[in-house]
Amino acid sequence: MNSYVEKVINYVKTKYPHQPEFCQTVEEVLSSLSPVIDKHPEYEKADLLNRIVEPERMFTFRVVWEDDNGNVHTNVGYRCQFNGAIGPYKGGLRFQKNVNPSIMKFLGFEQIFKNSLTGLPIGGAKGGADFDPTGKSDREIMRFCQSFMQALYRYIGPDVDVPAGDMGVGGREIGYLYGEYRRLKGKFENGVLTGKGLSYGGSLIRPEATGYGAIYYLQNVLRDDGQDIAGKTIACSGFGNVTWGICKKAAQLGAKVITLSGPDGYIIDPDGVITEEKINYLLEMRSSGRNRVQDYSDKFGVEFHANEKPWGIKADVVMPSALQNDVHMEQAKQIAANNIRYYIEVANMPTTNDALQYLMSQEGMIVAPSKAVNAGGVATSALEMSQNSERLVWTAEEVDAQLHKIMDTIYKNSVDAAKRNGLGYNLVAGANIAGFERVADAMMQQGLF
Ligand code: GLU
Repeated sequence: MNSYVEKVINYVKTKYPHQPEFCQTVEEVLSSLSPVIDKHPEYEKADLLNRIVEPERMFTFRVVWEDDNGNVHTNVGYRCQFNGAIGPYKGGLRFQKNVNPSIMKFLGFEQIFKNSLTGLPIGGAKGGADFDPTGKSDREIMRFCQSFMQALYRYIGPDVDVPAGDMGVGGREIGYLYGEYRRLKGKFENGVLTGKGLSYGGSLIRPEATGYGAIYYLQNVLRDDGQDIAGKTIACSGFGNVTWGICKKAAQLGAKVITLSGPDGYIIDPDGVITEEKINYLLEMRSSGRNRVQDYSDKFGVEFHANEKPWGIKADVVMPSALQNDVHMEQAKQIAANNIRYYIEVANMPTTNDALQYLMSQEGMIVAPSKAVNAGGVATSALEMSQNSERLVWTAEEVDAQLHKIMDTIYKNSVDAAKRNGLGYNLVAGANIAGFERVADAMMQQGLF
């Protein structure tokens, strides 16, 4: 490994020992960059790596809200504006009880490279709160969003920082957040958030985009491997927005998702989540706020496995689409033992670093990294920003065609970047390198800060 790369990874680990997820992602990304850093000694002179691992700015704020019984609750909100070298900060908001500075920084760091890979002018950011939406009433969600925006509004804007959804933040939350922003600013500045409803500037296909994009990426992998998606079985985790989009596009193309998971366990549906009724039911499960995948097995009479993950299942493709660090060494071994050929990460950092290395070293396994595979979501957010600034609405076909083209380009750029650096067919390193090159170039041109 390049000695500067090694030095920075160790520096981050010593400096942030209480931020394990952040250290993990820094190690994963930077260790791919050795060949690039070797070729560019000027990067070390400009201390580029130490600069890129430090957020440009990060806010922590108090969010106080009142529940339906009049009890007062205090949560912590965050916005990590990690890197703005190539465009306004862009990235989602996550409302989940385990949100902390390490999670915010890991997601913000990933977002820099993901956003760069899209080829669009968006910097990397992430935000959220340690608020648990499970079981909250609609009014409680509204009051929480309003209070959150009262703290955040002065730090964001269409040319400054454009938040969007992530786990626990969907169309409903974005609506409440935007309403409060508009009220505070006294302006219809809808380019400040993406993932909006269609009636006030949202983009068609944005809800589907992450899942559709993941399948478009998978199609590229399969094509280069002489395969077709039709007839393939897919083991997915999660049952949220991303998994819903994957099920929908897979079904359209004749493939089928056969597993879903939640915090309570996983279900297996050998017929596939392919009918309109089943796919739409995922939306109901999400809006119920119950956060239970067992509801699917109750409704459709399929097997439910409590407190287990679906990684022991045989399928053509495995797509972890739920939380970070979902697949550890133990699960990676199960996946390899099942001779899975396509391991396609979808959630951010779903695989621990050792498990990822292990899977990548398996003969006959193709591994694709989430920062490329799930980039269709944020790319379509950037398309939403374009529509907002043009005051135009694109058709679903136009947005979908753009998304498809972006995913093909991300795949191609990743393949090329790895090849150019003597790494062969390595989609993981290729994505890190392609994402990094553009940001590094912009930072070098913009001088020291
Ligand atoms: N949270 C999504 C992501 O991780 C979407 C971000 C966005 O649309 O800005 O990419």
